[in-house]
Amino acid sequence: MLNLILFGPPGSGKGTQADNLIARYQILHISTGDLFRYEMGNDTPLGLKAKEYMSRGELVPDEVTIGMLQNKVNAHPEARGIIFDGFPRTIAQAKALDEFLDSKGTSVTALVALDVPDEELVVRLLGRGKTSGRADDNDEAVIRTRIDVYKKETTPVFDYYQDQGKSQMIPGVGTIDEIFGRLTNAIDDIYTSS
Ligand code: AMP
Repeated sequence: MLNLILFGPPGSGKGTQADNLIARYQILHISTGDLFRYEMGNDTPLGLKAKEYMSRGELVPDEVTIGMLQNKVNAHPEARGIIFDGFPRTIAQAKALDEFLDSKGTSVTALVALDVPDEELVVRLLGRGKTSGRADDNDEAVIRTRIDVYKKETTPVFDYYQDQGKSQMIPGVGTIDEIFGRLTNAIDDIYTSS
């Protein structure tokens, strides 16, 4: 299986690139942010809980997030691989993911991180907020909290997979096609050598 973690701060282009990557590799796309927004849109208990955290730009607690992710993976036994978009965001999530995939006889193939300067992220997210309908993209203070949370809680996940020889940093500025080319080069290198 090709199991990819698409990594990077909010606004780094993960969702856009995930759409291109699923077309190329024909694998399942799981975005925990999208799953939370779906639950929120349906006013489910999980959605209401997630909303408290998302509206502040904070992370939803690990136990909630990990359980939801596992349910989604379990619902797709036919998947030839998975792109994890926005997960794992903490070391606890990364360890849980490794154990979970191990129990299925598979593992993370690679983590590819999109590197974008902070000020570019803020400009992109405020721009996206005009059309995305996402409350967390419309408030600069919330955007800056999300970037801070990424730095403090999420960047250690890059090092965690680097210790396993699986992390790659990709410049996330340029055209969508240029960035896609860099991503696929990195993924193909890791995949063929794994
Ligand atoms: P995203 O769509 O990936 O930008 O995620 C939007 C929001 O959903 C984040 O700011 C968090 O509040 C929440 N979220 C998404 N994925 C996770 C995760 N793996 N762990 C905790 N919270 C998450």
